[in-house]
Amino acid sequence: MDVLDCHIHMILDGVDYRAAIDRHRLAPDDGLIRARLRDYAALGVTYLRDGGDRWGVGLRAKALAAEYGIEYRTPAFNICRAGHYGAFLGESFADLAEYRRLVAQVLALGGDFIKIMASGLMDFHAFGVLTDTPCDAPLLSELVAVAHDQGLSVMVHANGGEAVGAALSAGADSIEHGAYLPAETLAQLAASQAVWVPTLVTIGNLRGLGRFPDTVLEPLLALQQENVALAAKLGARIALGTDAGAYAVFHGPAITQEYTLLREALGDETDAILARGAAAIRSRFRRQH
Ligand SMILES: [Zn+2]
Repeated sequence: MDVLDCHIHMILDGVDYRAAIDRHRLAPDDGLIRARLRDYAALGVTYLRDGGDRWGVGLRAKALAAEYGIEYRTPAFNICRAGHYGAFLGESFADLAEYRRLVAQVLALGGDFIKIMASGLMDFHAFGVLTDTPCDAPLLSELVAVAHDQGLSVMVHANGGEAVGAALSAGADSIEHGAYLPAETLAQLAASQAVWVPTLVTIGNLRGLGRFPDTVLEPLLALQQENVALAAKLGARIALGTDAGAYAVFHGPAITQEYTLLREALGDETDAILARGAAAIRSRFRRQH
């Protein structure tokens, strides 16, 4: 079976994001990047899709990855609304003109697609709660359209029915995370061309650490697994991505951990479903012209 990860952050290490970024602050640390690529290659990984960073680490990894037999796709940096979640790794825009300049920059840097942050995170201290406010639907539609006009696919970080619904209506090519989706959004997802990358391991690996209450994590993971199962039943495209580099999600081992959680949700159909999702990601998240 195809071993791949459709959502990683090469720049991060799963331990401490500030220290991890500091290691690459002056220039991407080739030694560290090569070590990670070598580890991925040893696991049989043939494809990685990065979530982006503004220090050029993902771009450097893309330049080196072919030496390790890995197809590597990166958005260069992720793009977020000024004053909203995501700025710790990416670039922010205050208006559409600034956004267009960032898209032009991604193209000039050799990015493969656009990554947009359309919501905050799950609050792991409180079930049902999301941080930050979602990107509104009209704005998100404009952002996706600008990228598509440039021949770039769009990876959207979105949690909650509002942000994910807006992303799907906008024509997003992939939905990352997708926590707390109501049934109507799962149906919308299934009816769309978008691929869902649910990154279950970002929840699963927090269990038992004592950093967040397991009384929140357990039902949250169970809900996400139920939603993955329901989405699959409705015919949605689903792909394996781990968010490697996020807290307690380590490059490499996270792939098997994510697979295990997806398999709990999808059962015997897991490999067929993931193969279809992976094929969609691989074919779409590269420059179309
Ligand atoms: Zn991510």
